[in-house]
Amino acid sequence: MNDPLSILNQTYGYDQFRGQQADAIEHVVNGGSAFVLMPTGSGKSLCYQIPALCREGVGVVVSPLIALMQDQITALEQLGISAAAINSAMPYEQVLKVKQKLRNNELDLLYVAPERLVTRDFLEMLDEIKIALFAIDEAHCVSQWGHDFRPDYIALSLLAKRYEDVPRIALTATADKPTRKDIVDRLALAGGKTFIDGFDRPNIHYAIMERNNPKKQVYDFITNHHSADSGIIYCISRKKVEDMAAWLQEKGMNALPYHAGLTPRLRSDNQDRFLREDNVIIVATIAFGMGIDKPDVRFVGHMNIPKSIEAYYQETGRAGRDGLPSNAFMIYGMEDAAMQRNWIDTSEAPEIQKRIEHQKINALIGLCEAAICRRQILLEYFADRCEPCGNCDTCESKPETFDGTTAAQMALSAVYRTEQRFGMIYVIDVLLGKEDERIIRFGHDKQSTFGIGGDYSKPEWQNIFRQLVSRNLLMVDVNEHNGIKITEKGFLFLKEKDTISFRKLTEKQKAKKTKRAKKALEELDNDLDRDLYEKLRSTRQQMAKKRRLPAYVVFHDKTLIELARVKPQSLGEMLEITGIGESKLRKFGQELLSVIIDA
Ligand code: ADP
Ligand code: ZN
Repeated sequence: MNDPLSILNQTYGYDQFRGQQADAIEHVVNGGSAFVLMPTGSGKSLCYQIPALCREGVGVVVSPLIALMQDQITALEQLGISAAAINSAMPYEQVLKVKQKLRNNELDLLYVAPERLVTRDFLEMLDEIKIALFAIDEAHCVSQWGHDFRPDYIALSLLAKRYEDVPRIALTATADKPTRKDIVDRLALAGGKTFIDGFDRPNIHYAIMERNNPKKQVYDFITNHHSADSGIIYCISRKKVEDMAAWLQEKGMNALPYHAGLTPRLRSDNQDRFLREDNVIIVATIAFGMGIDKPDVRFVGHMNIPKSIEAYYQETGRAGRDGLPSNAFMIYGMEDAAMQRNWIDTSEAPEIQKRIEHQKINALIGLCEAAICRRQILLEYFADRCEPCGNCDTCESKPETFDGTTAAQMALSAVYRTEQRFGMIYVIDVLLGKEDERIIRFGHDKQSTFGIGGDYSKPEWQNIFRQLVSRNLLMVDVNEHNGIKITEKGFLFLKEKDTISFRKLTEKQKAKKTKRAKKALEELDNDLDRDLYEKLRSTRQQMAKKRRLPAYVVFHDKTLIELARVKPQSLGEMLEITGIGESKLRKFGQELLSVIIDA
């Protein structure tokens, strides 16, 4: 019974392989290494389980999800497959038992966490037994570009060298283009084959809207579309989870909270009810859903944006695994992005990692603000493509757009003329004609694109740039300090004089969050003071010039304003002024004092 199809029929009870399963399995059974990219729920596990059963020896499965290992093993045991795990959560005697089974060649599959696998003890034990294959699950964790980088995964590159003849199969549901390349490089899969199944989930309807009254928005959504269905609602914090669950319960819905702050008992009770009962809504932080294989989740709602398109796609992918129509809806506000950015900035991650994560947020905002089919943007992100789908909110009711052809041309040529190495804000400042010190230093104030962008505000330009990035006309190079570059598609756009339209920003989005800084002079409320201030400024100018210092090194404007208002009459009084200490008093005090007294 060692051929894949009979194992599928007899052990798993399924009629036929799906998508690329058969090809991938055949390749690995014959000893080849493979990279398997298939969406969640498509049946990746079989791609290593069946070869492990066909080949002699044990299949070693590397997985970061220790908490889920036991579930997977239980499920396999149900099928009559002999599987076990070795991990840090197990008592020592149990580990010994598993090792004994391994030596006796009694196991088909062994699950292990990456940090455990690469220990010397473990490797030496593996040296003594026959290994059918290595499966590296959640392989995107090997890449810094992935959305869930785990340094432990990098050490897995030793497998290729140490076990040259053992096939390796890396699997993931979520990897953008740079991540894919990293996986192939780090796990040395270039000699193997890649198997990609379409990323499209045509039965999922996508809708993304701005937040105005979140509770009402969710309530309306559920009552209009899913009054008797199971679903998941993701909230950003434990507190929001509790709030939302309580509120939905008040409204008579079967809503249960799930987050890391609940007792393990309550958590597993709530999860069980969600799995077993119909019509249960789980309100959760993202801690919920990993490895949940409930086929009839009818909707997934996000109350805030997650941290990347990968995370969004993975989480929404938990809807409709049975292929029936399902809904993904998200409500967002610009404060979500601010909160995410703040987390990134205050994290301990290395600089490059932070930049990558900022770009992932930008891509996600690009999706939220998009004027074109959501599915097209999602699939493009994963290097897949489709026609406008007719099954998302932007396809159904075209958002209000404006012709952005000229704006796009301006943006692209400003990027080009600043040599494709500056960040978005810099290029926008050039377009807006800001007389910034750096812009002047680089001579970009002399260029034709300087100041031509006055028809749009800064937030509008940010929106335009994000949409250009999400449509792949521009890209952000995180290796070059987030410098913006024009993509091939972008150059083609310029060359072929294509047109493009963008989604209009709402008034709320357009409103600038920061008030314009008051000009210094407005701090002074009468003309006499203002006169004095101007005199003090010119004195400062001379002092600075004499000493070859920038003016602000002599005194900040703030100090001059205070001097003009308070008008100290002695050196002693002058010491009370902000920014004047002993040393500056000695150097400049007398001169300033005479200006004040003479005034
Ligand atoms: P993934 O790891 O890609 O998220 P799984 O391997 O957990 O997906 O498979 C998802 C579900 O689909 C499982 O219940 C699995 O048993 C089932 N499945 C996998 N392959 C087939 C197939 N060829 N026919 C029917 N069901 C399948
Ligand atoms: Zn669409």
